[in-house]
Amino acid sequence: MVNKANLTRAAENDILMGRAVPYVSRMKYWSNPSVKKSVCLFCSLGCGVAFRCDGDQAKELDYDKENPVCNGALCPRGHYNIELLNHPGRLMTPMIGKRAVAWDEALSFILQELKQFKPEELGIVLSSNASNEDAYMAAKLARSLGTKNISAAGDPADLEAWLGSKYEVPGAQLSSIEEIDNSEALLIVGDILVRSPVLSQRINKVKYGKRGNKVIVIDPNKTHTAWFATTHLKNRPGTEALVLAAMVLGKEADLARISELTGLPAQAIEKAASDFSSAPTGTLIFSPGANKERNDLIGYFAKILAARSGGKKQITFYSFGNTLGVNSILDREVEGHAAYPELIKKIESAEIKSMIMLGEIILGNKIRHLKFTAKSRFFADESPYETEVQLPLASQIDGGGTYILADGRQAAPVPVTPQAGAKTNAEIVSLIMNTEFDRDKLQAEAAASLAKGPVQAKIDQREAVKEVMAIKAGPDRPAENITHFGNNDLVKRFFWYRLKAGELS
Ligand code: SF4
Repeated sequence: MVNKANLTRAAENDILMGRAVPYVSRMKYWSNPSVKKSVCLFCSLGCGVAFRCDGDQAKELDYDKENPVCNGALCPRGHYNIELLNHPGRLMTPMIGKRAVAWDEALSFILQELKQFKPEELGIVLSSNASNEDAYMAAKLARSLGTKNISAAGDPADLEAWLGSKYEVPGAQLSSIEEIDNSEALLIVGDILVRSPVLSQRINKVKYGKRGNKVIVIDPNKTHTAWFATTHLKNRPGTEALVLAAMVLGKEADLARISELTGLPAQAIEKAASDFSSAPTGTLIFSPGANKERNDLIGYFAKILAARSGGKKQITFYSFGNTLGVNSILDREVEGHAAYPELIKKIESAEIKSMIMLGEIILGNKIRHLKFTAKSRFFADESPYETEVQLPLASQIDGGGTYILADGRQAAPVPVTPQAGAKTNAEIVSLIMNTEFDRDKLQAEAAASLAKGPVQAKIDQREAVKEVMAIKAGPDRPAENITHFGNNDLVKRFFWYRLKAGELS
């Protein structure tokens, strides 16, 4: 279907004359065409995405074939990046309740409301898709308000895995995306292709790269990832941490008991451990998930196992683009800040009465417990509370920023198109704090904070083993479908919009 809003008079004439306007050549009708590159942050793989622009307006999506992460591929979610820019429902002006207001009015209203609450009654929550600069400014705001009630929001399984990623493991090394291709053995925990489908090309490359290469998948279901497996360990649901602990402990483990708990034959666990360890090169890939138990311990044993399997590397993929950056900065900048589950409990018990929520779709219906909320969003809430303030939010595509992806790479997308009424979270917080917004200085400060690394945590291995031995298998659950939206409520909006507009009928 041709979107006429994107076409020049010349193109319209072509259509009127019955001449075809093929998708790939529409740029020739634009007065000032160019292709600009950015990055997709719908998951922490961070594929390159390109936009065909006319002047400073991004009109169409393109594929970044030179991007070494995705080689021009995008998953279904990645395609929605263009719609985030041009969606008709995008919030472009601040709102108090259902009333559109000027920025000044919205900001004075927020400041006046915040004064009604004690510091411990205030909270801040930040999307794990936010930039490092957003996180740094949010931390500054928390300190100025005198509250430690600040946390990143996101997939609860990811946040649990993030806590586990901080457990100290000597010799643990993070893998790069490119190193996955060069592996002769992959050990994959969970269905990574639901989260980051573009990785399928790399997994395929390992599987068919060389005779004898191994792809070992630990998952209770025959998932799309398991479909690639040369060995599929079909464990009982929730026992992934236990399987990994058994692989770490080898003969020292109570394999008979573990076999009973996991539903896997002891020999299968031993063989998988030996195959992974004996491969000259290999990577352990972890995809956290709600149907797993103790994602933190899975991450912990994954790190030990990779390090002890001939010094192999491991990588965890998160479902939000900047889980690593946002959490690391909050850890460093607000010592002893609340973890997300703690924040939720405080909201439910009315200990926290007022929240600043930076990013789309966070906290869900938990806000009904609150007396005041100010939130930045891409899309207006359809039924806001009377005193709720909504501020239009810029994404990485129109707002830029820096982000830390799953393998520790920094992405620094340059805005491809003007912000058109929206602002980044960092700009919004500067306005609330009434401080000057200096992008370069802020970027340097956020980088300095990240350079310190996340605050490490200690765990006793014997304690961890005791904890995994106590895990009971959960009920069976069907495998997730690869075309689903990866638990990302934001992209569902695009889908439903297209459905309503009849594009998918
Ligand atoms: S795999 Fe992740 S980063 Fe790549 S296009 Fe899909 S959602 Fe975006």
